Amino acid sequence: GKPACECNSCFGGSDCSEFSPDCVADADSGDPLYLEPFWMKHAASSAVLVAGWHRMSYRFSDGSVISQELEKHIRKVHAIAGNAVTDGRYIVVGAGSTHLLGAAVYALSTGNSSSPAKVVASTPYYPLYKQQVDYFRAVDFEFEGDASLLNNTSDTTSRIIEFVTSPNNPDCQLRKAVLNGPSVRTIHDHAYYWPHYSAIPAPADEDLMIFTISKLTGHAGTRFGWALVKDEAVYQRMLEYISMSELVTSKDTQLRALQLLKVVLEGDARQIFDFAFHRMRDRWEKLSKTLSTSKRFSLQVIAPQYCTFYQKVRGPSPAYAWLKCEREEDGDCTVVLRSANIIGREGTMFNTGSRYVRLSLLKRDDDFNFLLNMIKKLVSEEYRAE
Ligand code: PMP
Repeated sequence: GKPACECNSCFGGSDCSEFSPDCVADADSGDPLYLEPFWMKHAASSAVLVAGWHRMSYRFSDGSVISQELEKHIRKVHAIAGNAVTDGRYIVVGAGSTHLLGAAVYALSTGNSSSPAKVVASTPYYPLYKQQVDYFRAVDFEFEGDASLLNNTSDTTSRIIEFVTSPNNPDCQLRKAVLNGPSVRTIHDHAYYWPHYSAIPAPADEDLMIFTISKLTGHAGTRFGWALVKDEAVYQRMLEYISMSELVTSKDTQLRALQLLKVVLEGDARQIFDFAFHRMRDRWEKLSKTLSTSKRFSLQVIAPQYCTFYQKVRGPSPAYAWLKCEREEDGDCTVVLRSANIIGREGTMFNTGSRYVRLSLLKRDDDFNFLLNMIKKLVSEEYRAE
């Protein structure tokens, strides 16, 4: 048999066939490793080899800081997915979309206003928006909290910046901006607006849209994101931010991103979109079926929608389960799950109550299967107790 050290943490015994009672299903992080098998299948065509003397300069040979070839591929992948309008948009690239979120807040907040711009988002929202703004403690902007608390935007003198995450992290709903008015600017975070995770009802056509390779190809560690920007002055200010924080975005990263996009675009991107969509849909169906008999736990409801990419009405395939503990006595849902060896991300991080937990559906098959097994066990105990 195999030596025990080759078993993963959930199995033991001389041939790794004994399920360990100490096994923990870690569904905390949004690391999209479910795409690994796709890239194993395309190992040769996606590989990048760079000789030591290659691409040493800060800039590309035409003097630019973004690869023109990469820019063309980004526009093409949007045209095929039908998820964003790129005509009349400038492209800014950064070290992951995290870097560009900061650049966008900076670019939109500078005005002649005497008071700092108020940065808001609708609850539940991705925690980093607040964390980043709070951490940098800039004089030009501050995090104000939930967007709905700013209900009278017409008579405010300060600039308002609304983060709109669509589909949203954690609940994966498609969203629209809730604020409007002359002082409002929006940053649309479309990290999950791909056929993998959502129906694509229409191409996004907003002024400032941010995308990331992390959730498109799964290469979170490559650190590559891009922004599609309509306004030239905003574009220039974002470039200035990139220049101050990293001079130029890594050419090695751009080269790797380009090679990955070339493979994505093979066969009109059908292969990766189908692979990712079917994986995510399959996981969601298994999880919702398991939880359908539970009175103790519920999942978010995502309505089927017409998808222009698949040209049909399609069901949900979300990146995360936004699980709710329904019972009065299960006030801290994270603790309830933790005692069943399931690690999720607590709802309070997303500015909601502790009845909610986010479970990542993006990890490897093994991780998902452990999660599913443990949830099955929890639900079966519910019936035994009755
Ligand atoms: N926006 C959202 C909504 C996210 O969920 C994430 C990653 N979890 C990011 C941005 C950041 O992604 P990255 O920096 O890897 O591009």
